[in-house]
Amino acid sequence: MFVFDHPSFDDHEGVHVFADPASGLKAIISIHSTLRGPSSGGCRLWSYKTEDAAIDDALRLSRAMSYKNVMANLELGGGKSVILKPEGDFDRKALFTAFGKAVHTLGGKYIVAEDVGVSPADMEIIKTQTPYVAGLNSGEAASGDPSPITAKGVFLGLCAAVKHRLGNDSVRGLTVAVQGIGHVGYALCRHLHEAGAHLIVTDINQDALDSAKAEFDAVVVEPDEIYKQDADIFAPCALGRAINPDSLLQLKVTIVAGAANNQLSTPEMGAALHRQNILFAPDYVINAGGIINIASEVSGTYDLDWVRGKLDELEVTTREIFAISARENRPANEVADKMARERLGRS
Ligand code: NAD
Repeated sequence: MFVFDHPSFDDHEGVHVFADPASGLKAIISIHSTLRGPSSGGCRLWSYKTEDAAIDDALRLSRAMSYKNVMANLELGGGKSVILKPEGDFDRKALFTAFGKAVHTLGGKYIVAEDVGVSPADMEIIKTQTPYVAGLNSGEAASGDPSPITAKGVFLGLCAAVKHRLGNDSVRGLTVAVQGIGHVGYALCRHLHEAGAHLIVTDINQDALDSAKAEFDAVVVEPDEIYKQDADIFAPCALGRAINPDSLLQLKVTIVAGAANNQLSTPEMGAALHRQNILFAPDYVINAGGIINIASEVSGTYDLDWVRGKLDELEVTTREIFAISARENRPANEVADKMARERLGRS
């Protein structure tokens, strides 16, 4: 399928494909918009079943970055990259060196950071090839792994949803079902545990599950059991499309609020949640902590106070979206999408 006809194509400014047979690199860098500044968003390393799945991910994720960056009022546009994980053993240094060269060819229109499957150490390799990289562990403005800040923002957004839907000032005594306890999900579990919530967790990584059980007294369930748990909140923190026609039938929660990008398999899923009286905290609004952290680094001086202030702004924006959604009886994702597209000058 050609990109222009692709269902996820949204007049993206550029979709760039890179290959380097020596290292095994096959990558797509998708730039949705540079209206607000250079595009920025993470790089995902993933074993995609098909090339189309990789293109779809890059298109959807880069659009979500435009929405995320504009809703967080950052001077950044939206971009994202995916690397198709080579089969079998591969030389990580060679792969990310080749990817760094690819990023550099775009001359700063795309600034890369971490996403699923990629770490600050990989960013350091990219840094040997291009200055257009952030989320670094070293250097004057280095901001390191964005995940803890993302988790903090998601926690604040989740609490705003709890206040709006349940009227509670805290999550104490509530049960949260968390899907995916990687970098962000695990840190979110810590916030929830410290705030007195009960946790039900799932992952495909047994070590993470063992740790969550020991550290947070979490109940562990199989991946396909997570949707039907008797919980108050479902927090998708693995990959996208957690809310789909199958999962929708199983959910018993009243709130969906998590870290994963593109949680709704289609925008209609947001309308379906709304009809089921389940409050959806728009993913790209509440998970913007990481890119805020990156934005601080990109500005040249990392400033934790500025980052914290921006997280507070996210919470305010989330509350505004819920208020409009309730007042106008419209799904929260539609309210957020409209706000984002207006700010981007797109109809
Ligand atoms: P991660 O790779 O560290 O964690 C993802 C976790 O999900 C892993 O533990 C993995 O084993 C688990 N997982 C994968 N498939 C699963 C399945 N079918 N069922 C249950 N668990 C499964 O990634 P992360 O950095 O924690 O990011 C998590 C999500 O949040 C992603 O969607 C990412 O795009 C999004 N996000 C992350 C950041 C950030 O700062 N890292 C910022 C914004 C959004």
